Amino acid sequence: AKSLGRNNYQVYANNVDATQQQQTELKARLRHAVRNDELRVFYQPQVEASSEDIVGMEALVRWEHPELGMISPAFFIPLAEASGLIVPIGEWVLRTACAQAKAWESRYGLGLRLGVNLSAVQLMQSNLASVVATVLRDTGLDPHQLELEVTESISVKTVPHLVETLDALHAMGCRIAIDDFGTGAASLDYLRRLPADRIKIDQSFVRNIGVDPDDEAIVRATIEMAHHLKRGVVAEGVEIEQHLQFLRLNGCDELQGYLFCRPLPTPAFDKLLAERERL
Ligand code: C2E
Ligand code: CA
Ligand code: CA
Ligand code: CA
Repeated sequence: AKSLGRNNYQVYANNVDATQQQQTELKARLRHAVRNDELRVFYQPQVEASSEDIVGMEALVRWEHPELGMISPAFFIPLAEASGLIVPIGEWVLRTACAQAKAWESRYGLGLRLGVNLSAVQLMQSNLASVVATVLRDTGLDPHQLELEVTESISVKTVPHLVETLDALHAMGCRIAIDDFGTGAASLDYLRRLPADRIKIDQSFVRNIGVDPDDEAIVRATIEMAHHLKRGVVAEGVEIEQHLQFLRLNGCDELQGYLFCRPLPTPAFDKLLAERERL
């Protein structure tokens, strides 16, 4: 997609060491962006490892800055978290993506799963489960199609009631995925304590398939352990054929990465589903 190739974004994204004043300005600018409709949701397909059929998608937010072009969430999500703006932004992403997933369900009826990222700050809101329930009711999306991704860096210690909140979401029928699995210190404790249906193997491990035998062993062991615990496994950052072959051979359930598709704006993702439909 053209929007992904804008040069400005690269310059901006690399310059993460903005000064204090720039940070303050950016926060104000981000607040304006939310009101001014500058945020976009992109969708990246998740495919079944055995068939490479699309079985789901992850919603990924972008900021379409009028002068700077597409700004990466890796850059502005931390700002949004620090300023509390992540709460309205996160709810907007959830609502937009659920409405879109419902529209695709009505149009194509594929039962695709929708992954939506939750920030620690959202998980600290005591009304999160009721916000999610309201969005599901308003949009009509089947709760079983919604998968909430909780990154492993979120700590059970710093987010009070994390287990209870996720239990409530799980009881509503939502799926829970542990994102960036293996990067934090909490991995195994998380698997024991959270109602996780799936884990997402972090791309830092996937990248080292064919490069580092230790990381290959970790990927293999993670898949095996997840399956023993009756959890599904998705691998992120699948970029080359060698990653695909290794993950398939070792029984990984689903795959996500540039090898299959980059995150796409809504019309391009719709086209992908429409063409798939015609096969
Ligand atoms: P994440 O949740 O781990 O999302 C996966 C990231 O990996 C995405 O980056 C995606 O574009 C990228 N990716 C996918 N396939 C490949 C690949 O094959 N190779 C490589 N190198 N990268 C790949 P993106 O969209 O820039 O998002 C970065 C992070 O920003 C996300 O990481 C997530 O932590 C956060 N984020 C994005 N959208 C949201 C949101 O709506 N809410 C919250 N709270 N966080 C979000
Ligand atoms: Ca994610
Ligand atoms: Ca991830
Ligand atoms: Ca990540």
